[in-house]
Amino acid sequence: MAEYREITCILCPNACQLKVRFDRDKKEILELEDARCKRGAKYAQEEIFDPRRSVMTVVPIESKSWKVTSVLTAEPVPKDRIHDVYNEISKVRLKPPVKTGDVVIHDVCGLGVDVIVTRSVKE
Ligand code: SF4
Repeated sequence: MAEYREITCILCPNACQLKVRFDRDKKEILELEDARCKRGAKYAQEEIFDPRRSVMTVVPIESKSWKVTSVLTAEPVPKDRIHDVYNEISKVRLKPPVKTGDVVIHDVCGLGVDVIVTRSVKE
């Protein structure tokens, strides 16, 4: 059965308001309106059938200068697993030095995605 949704494409500042008719069972986009470029179709496909988001937050660090430092999932994770990912990250405690790109959790929640440091702390 066809369903209809309006979604905002966030891939560029144009922020096209996409009008999408789709078949959930077949995971198929039936009709797409108001996308100003081809990337809108791929975005609609992912956002409707496999929505993902990057998770950004901070974790405590035993540093002289900082109480926390920032971390990020190296790739977006499925939207319905974001709470689990936050839970895992909340268990992390860091000690300096850490540098941008260091992996603090490998394969978080078995999703095949690492959580990495996004702000270096020397001491
Ligand atoms: S559909 Fe294309 S032009 Fe529109 S917001 Fe997405 S990427 Fe930008």
